[in-house]
Amino acid sequence: MSSSEPKINAFPIFMKVKNRVVAIVGNGEEALAKARLMGQSSASIRIVSDAPGPELAAWIAANGAAHLASSYQAETLAGAALVFAATGDETLDRRIVADAHAAGLCVNAVDRPELCDFFTPALVNRAPVVVAIGTEGAAPVLAQQIRSRIDRMLSPSLGRLATLASSYRAAVERILPKGTARRAYWTEFFAGAPARAMEIGHYDDAVAAADELLARQGATVGHVALVGAGPGAEDLLTLRAHRLMMEADVIVHDALVPEAVIAMGRRDAERIPVGKRKGCHSKSQSEINDLLVALGRDGRRVVRLKSGDPLVFGRAGEEMAALRDAGVSYEIVPGVTAAFAAAADFELPLTLRGVSSSMVFTTGHDLKGDVLPDWASLAIGGATVAVYMGRSIAADVATRLIEAGLSPDTAVAVVENASRAEKRLFHGTLADLPALQDRDDLSGPVMTIIGDAVAGANFTRSRALAAPRRAAAALAAGADA
Ligand code: SAH
Repeated sequence: MSSSEPKINAFPIFMKVKNRVVAIVGNGEEALAKARLMGQSSASIRIVSDAPGPELAAWIAANGAAHLASSYQAETLAGAALVFAATGDETLDRRIVADAHAAGLCVNAVDRPELCDFFTPALVNRAPVVVAIGTEGAAPVLAQQIRSRIDRMLSPSLGRLATLASSYRAAVERILPKGTARRAYWTEFFAGAPARAMEIGHYDDAVAAADELLARQGATVGHVALVGAGPGAEDLLTLRAHRLMMEADVIVHDALVPEAVIAMGRRDAERIPVGKRKGCHSKSQSEINDLLVALGRDGRRVVRLKSGDPLVFGRAGEEMAALRDAGVSYEIVPGVTAAFAAAADFELPLTLRGVSSSMVFTTGHDLKGDVLPDWASLAIGGATVAVYMGRSIAADVATRLIEAGLSPDTAVAVVENASRAEKRLFHGTLADLPALQDRDDLSGPVMTIIGDAVAGANFTRSRALAAPRRAAAALAAGADA
């Protein structure tokens, strides 16, 4: 330890409170807050409160705490392992502190750090796993912010997993030699198949996986998660996606996933870009399949990160088939698909009562054939159509849909870079849509939404899709007159 490192003035320890008395003195919200905090433990809670407020009274009743309904006396602290002076009255709190000290008890005076023997931490509770955050009373709000960040990082099932682990400790110690093998077992236990089964609530599968791992002597098996990264904003990543990225050995990602999202992953995870930007395929799909299988067979924890949702135009079907054939375990983590992000940016109801009750996800590329695809008739019937990868064929989509009978006046919304800071919104009609193809000012991914429900969107932040052409036409018309 370097000598310049600041010293801790309030050292964190975990104190056994089961069956011990914790006395809380007070009537109001300070007492209630401490009661709620200590109520997360198995301590016997004694509330000394002559006139409890309604919330505190309700809490006492609901939690079966012991209630001393008398005014505070030094004797009411008798036998307590911890005391909270939470009256909100400075004189009384000071008296409680003095009494506690005279009786040799540890005391916390709410909001008076100078009177405290101990501080209560902000807690992330995954009992028996507990994370306690303290600031020595200096910055409680900061402690809460850190708490919520850690809370998001840790799986809700972590406590159950730790409890299961403790039931395996004896067996692991008996069967696996101390050192590498045992460490490998626990590493895989907490990040591999047992953890994954627990995460989705399959307790029996977690037990089976823990047994199997023991039979394999802790040898790791690979796993591939096909993870939806969402449309690009980092905070549209799901908590599960983030957790898996934090545990990954390797992140295999598409070109459409922004750097900022990939950076949310574990810092020392290997990153493999597999390209697939329009026009420059850095790896073929079958090379990607082979790569995932090879990484999985190599015992690695792989996150295959795809933009949006992995099951929407993500070629996940082929990757799943390859992994299945190779016997590599995998899972799917859904993500926010581009159509939903674009609709949110546009405040556009994808289904609209009385207007549109179905929705089509398409690339529009099937409109090029001689036979119109089924979804064209859905569009005519009022479905909202989301066109992925539709920029370069915008004119075909518009022409064929109009030919098929969809009104040229049907509303169209276009979003470039949905959900991202650099997003741009455009609106127009189906007749304007061909203009999209010729706009060379768009460089980001583009989502096109067609249908009557689009008329319900908010157009205050969008520009006309085909403004130049219309303006020119209006000008020409003006000149003629
Ligand atoms: N699996 C992805 C789609 C991959 S196909 C998903 O569920 O969203 C790639 C197409 O998705 C792009 O051509 C574009 O049409 C659309 N797209 C992806 N991200 C987008 C974004 N941020 N804004 C607009 N469109 C996007």
